[in-house]
Amino acid sequence: MNTIFADLPTTIFEVMSSLAREKQAINLGQGFPDDPGPEDVRRRAAEAVLNGYNQYPSMMGIPELRAAIADHYLRHQGIEIDPLAETMVTSGATEALAGAIFATIRPGDEVVLFQPMYDAYLPLVRRAGGIPKFVTLQPPHWTFSAADLEAVFSSKTRAVVFNNPLNPSGIVYSREQVELLARYCVQYNAIAICDEVWEHVIFDERMHVSMLNIPSMRERTIKIGSAGKIFSLTGWKVGLVLAAPEIMRVIAKAHQFLTFTTPPNLQVAVAYGLGKDAAYFTGMRANYQRSRDRFCAGLMKCGFPVIPSEGTYFVNVDIGAIGEMDDVVFCRRLVEEHGVAAIPVSAFYAENAVRTVVRFCFAKNDETLDSGLSRLRHAIRQR
Ligand code: PMP
Ligand code: GLN
Repeated sequence: MNTIFADLPTTIFEVMSSLAREKQAINLGQGFPDDPGPEDVRRRAAEAVLNGYNQYPSMMGIPELRAAIADHYLRHQGIEIDPLAETMVTSGATEALAGAIFATIRPGDEVVLFQPMYDAYLPLVRRAGGIPKFVTLQPPHWTFSAADLEAVFSSKTRAVVFNNPLNPSGIVYSREQVELLARYCVQYNAIAICDEVWEHVIFDERMHVSMLNIPSMRERTIKIGSAGKIFSLTGWKVGLVLAAPEIMRVIAKAHQFLTFTTPPNLQVAVAYGLGKDAAYFTGMRANYQRSRDRFCAGLMKCGFPVIPSEGTYFVNVDIGAIGEMDDVVFCRRLVEEHGVAAIPVSAFYAENAVRTVVRFCFAKNDETLDSGLSRLRHAIRQR
């Protein structure tokens, strides 16, 4: 068997969700909302299943969704994109990441990765024959400097995988940080594979700065989005890719043999959803921000040191500050003895892992959050 996959552990999301089911725990681990998602978008999908076209759509995505993608990013991020040459629909951001990585990385190419990193990146980079070069981010700010980039970029750098807003840390990078990375991409002639799936889930009036919007990066950025995150429908697995035509042409070749296409009914509904007015997006953000604030206040009251969350469905706590030095041991005890599932952030590092940060998902209704908090209070008292 191929050792890249044979030697991999099962993804931490599946491990913690299985444990949560087994122990009947409150699952604040894997990131999915309690909220069922906007009813009008779900109705549109249901209608399309019943009355729409249910055969293979075009491998690039249905025209109405590709037009909606172009319109959406123009309205929300000021990005001008040609729907026919520069957009593609995939089966989730995960497939888009695989396609982008397989299309750009040649065996022996170096790829810059920021850890903690979403757990799909490294195996995909390795499978493509890429050699990872890690920038290690540290809590609580998770920022990177010119010196950090200087240490990893070289003439062999082919690509960088950049996740902004960053899961699991909940950070939204500033324009300065995005521009700093852009300068290195330009200097070393590297492609930026930008996982921006959390672009709409940002708080406190923050603005998302897309790498595609940095003029020097327009021709060398692959921007990846996910309807699952935009509409709180994580199971839908509809991904969006934006890239210049020459790059897109090759990603499309990878995509044609990964999944080829994505369910047409979901595409119809996502096309409808992307056109929703600004109130939907501000309302969604306000709801998650309220949940974040409720949960964080509760965590602090229990005595957990909270690392501020600027975006995503997640907030982290610094368990080192309460004398816990192993996030994996801590999370196991939490789910097995106290009935709360969380995610140990060390799972997102390949080396030099930070072992004292634990991630909780707050995209839950008040009852779920409050029951979770009451169990966490008990857990902290019992130590
Ligand atoms: N990238 C990041 C950073 C994510 O957090 C997720 C899922 N939460 C994905 C990619 C995968 O998205 P999808 O479910 O659309 O494949
Ligand atoms: N992205 C989700 C999270 O961070 C999980 C996705 C998955 O389970 N593959 O929790």
